[in-house]
Amino acid sequence: MTEEKVKVLIIGSGPAGYTAAIYASRAGLNPVLYTGGEPGGQLTTTNDVENYPGYPEGVNGPQMMVDFQKQAERFNTDVRYGMATKVDFSGYPHKVWIDDGKHLITADAVIIATGATAKYLGLESEKTYANKGVSACAVCDGFFYKGMDVAVVGAGDTAAEEATYLANICPKVHLFVRRDEMRASKIMQKRVLNTKNIEVHWNTETEEVTGDATGVTGVRVVNNKTGEKKEIYIKGFFVAIGHKPNTDIFKGFLDMDETGYLKVIPGTSKTNIEGVFATGDAADRVYRQAVTAAGTGCMGALDAERFLTAKEEELEEAKG
Ligand code: NDP
Repeated sequence: MTEEKVKVLIIGSGPAGYTAAIYASRAGLNPVLYTGGEPGGQLTTTNDVENYPGYPEGVNGPQMMVDFQKQAERFNTDVRYGMATKVDFSGYPHKVWIDDGKHLITADAVIIATGATAKYLGLESEKTYANKGVSACAVCDGFFYKGMDVAVVGAGDTAAEEATYLANICPKVHLFVRRDEMRASKIMQKRVLNTKNIEVHWNTETEEVTGDATGVTGVRVVNNKTGEKKEIYIKGFFVAIGHKPNTDIFKGFLDMDETGYLKVIPGTSKTNIEGVFATGDAADRVYRQAVTAAGTGCMGALDAERFLTAKEEELEEAKG
């Protein structure tokens, strides 16, 4: 095992991680950033990003993340391919092991930007049509299905929100709910039920997403009470059954909610551990947008910088 001491360690390479890197490197903190197993994060699984300000013509998701990386490297962020697999935040400086203990980093400040992963149903056909009609984000991809019929799977607030969002731009939205009730808040349910062009299919599970060379063309669903099967014509299939924040390695050290989203002091990126900052989707169960992730990444770097300055002042004072 090799060991190394760094001032600022950034874990994750989505908009939050790279924005933290840009700010931290410009502040002279020489950050080291580990990309994780999916360099660029969730945006590398989408095509066009049209809602990130500053790109009037839109931008390709993977290309955008290459640009974020280049910008961070321009100010000398040390970007490395590797995965943080274990942490120890019980003492100081903080310890983070990379790639199953091959490398140990001790860091004065750690900025977490590990993101979240959208849950999928687990159907083979979801993979076949990923980015060709299957999406886990209506706000990101809904626009591409403007004027076309679409479906949403799920029954929580996200599904309700996505269905109502899509109902504004699509003639018909089918909502597949696997039970005879929705989990979403009452107000969101009411909005769904009062929207004329949303059809709720209760007790309904997806068997297969169907399509051809052009992408998704339909979906086959089954009523789990009656066994009745139906083929429904759609062009967009939105999975909204929740996200899983990538925070397992922080369990036992950092405060998180019941689903694993990291808790921060409101209005900051500070966690319950001094010198550990949480940014991006790993700490955001509600917004989950590239631009909000980038914003909190910036907060993480500024909070880390202030923390390190205060720490140095403490040390100077102690020296007398
Ligand atoms: P949730 O975990 O709340 O809901 C997931 C939904 O997906 C459930 O209804 C569940 O069904 C359904 N589901 C899970 N697996 C499957 C499956 N295999 N097939 C079909 N359906 C499935 O996730 P959300 O993303 O909706 O919300 C996460 C959190 O974020 C919640 O606390 C929510 O309130 C919050 N949120 C708040 C928003 C806001 O305030 N504007 C917006 C979006 C989210 P079942 O009910 O049967 O278990």
